[in-house]
Amino acid sequence: MPPSVFFKLVSPCYRLHAVVWRVLSAIHYYLQTTNMSEHPENYDDIRSAVARLCERFPGDYWRRLDRESAYPSEFVDALTEAGWLAALIPETYGGAGLPLSAGAAILEEIHRSGGNAGACHAQMYTMGTLLRHGSEQQKSRYLPAIAEGSLRLQAFGVTEPSSGTDTGSLKTKAVLDGDHYLVNGQKIWTSRAEHSDLMILLARTTPLTKDMKKTHGLSVLLVDMREAQGNGLTIRPIRTMMNHATTEVFFDNLKVPASNLIGVEGDGFKYILSGMNAERILIASECIGDAKWLIDKTVSYAKDRHVFGRAIGENQGIQFPIARAYANMRAAELMVQDALRLYEQNQNPGAEANMAKMLAADASNEAANVAVQTFGGFGFAEEYDIERKFRETRLYQVAPISTNLILSYLSEHVLGLPRSY
Ligand SMILES: Cc1cc2nc3c(=O)[nH]c(=O)nc-3n(C[C@H](O)[C@H](O)[C@H](O)COP(=O)(O)OP(=O)(O)OC[C@H]3O[C@@H](n4cnc5c(N)ncnc54)[C@H](O)[C@@H]3O)c2cc1C
Repeated sequence: MPPSVFFKLVSPCYRLHAVVWRVLSAIHYYLQTTNMSEHPENYDDIRSAVARLCERFPGDYWRRLDRESAYPSEFVDALTEAGWLAALIPETYGGAGLPLSAGAAILEEIHRSGGNAGACHAQMYTMGTLLRHGSEQQKSRYLPAIAEGSLRLQAFGVTEPSSGTDTGSLKTKAVLDGDHYLVNGQKIWTSRAEHSDLMILLARTTPLTKDMKKTHGLSVLLVDMREAQGNGLTIRPIRTMMNHATTEVFFDNLKVPASNLIGVEGDGFKYILSGMNAERILIASECIGDAKWLIDKTVSYAKDRHVFGRAIGENQGIQFPIARAYANMRAAELMVQDALRLYEQNQNPGAEANMAKMLAADASNEAANVAVQTFGGFGFAEEYDIERKFRETRLYQVAPISTNLILSYLSEHVLGLPRSY
């Protein structure tokens, strides 16, 4: 074909291609900017209001509680009165009806201020089990009281001493007997049980048989612990390396009204799973808050502390670990934001929520380690709060789900590798 003919044929195609390319670029740009605007907002007003509240509970408040293994009742009361713990409860039930990203901002800010939301964070995600799967009667009975603060739903009883991470093997039984269930068994690490009125309890209602999936036949009951204590329910505190108000709980022929079954009998595992994304994202936000607090403290100390006649922060051996911890915190924060964005688009961000939790827990753990190293001997002294945060951040490598289990999830469900357990 002569070059002139070829040019004539190609030329319109080329022009068409250029036009199509420009249109596609414009669409791509539009989608990109649209996606950017879909990122959860920063909630600056909420953050500054929460930060102001937290100023009333400085380091010496948390240190005293830590020393005494005491529950931060004043802090939890202040958060409740200000309505922050009801942020995610829909307006119909007396809450603020805010999205999960607002809850994440509240919890991050508490940790960013050096505090700890572990004493009350569960109310934000355990409430979701009741909200999503409870009957209208259950919701209107409990949610308004939780929203106004006259009822506390802080306890979540899933883990057992013999089953651990293998939830399907749990042994606590609930047997229907007329108009109530009779519950027998034991839970461990049931945090805040002594400071909660209600507990979301996962128990086996159908005996496990060989041909049955072990996650079937489990049910969720809402236990009113005010009536139950001393009537079949015993709570024993467990002292841990950080102040977490955790307990073991014993059930001995505890009667729970059949009307307190949440959703359908036997489907409880699904209900618990459905709340896990929110739980992982909220805990990840706390870890980001911890990492930010630790990095701020570390930077200030590195600038102020003078050894060999100059600030220790002038040495790259001090700067680089802090800079790396900062970079890792920012990367984890982006994953938290991505998980929130997908969650709020009603997608199922299982992978993103798990990755957010793992990366944020790693970031806070790294920031705590770098802080102790930078503070030198003072990192071990109670009055700097660094050793307290070092202990507190360590928890999130194990609970509410351990790093290994997240890696197993990613290996199997994202990468398609064989199930390892
Ligand atoms: C302070 C605290 C508060 C808690 N609060 C609550 C609460 O309120 N409610 C509640 O129900 N639970 C709570 N937990 C329990 C927590 O969720 C569990 O501790 C956690 O899920 C790990 O379970 P486990 O301790 O039984 O460890 P195990 O299951 O015994 O595991 C021990 C170790 O082995 C690893 N492992 C186990 N199986 C595998 C595998 N297949 N592959 C690779 N590694 C594996 C785990 O990752 C872990 O590191 C809390 C725990 C703590 C410490």
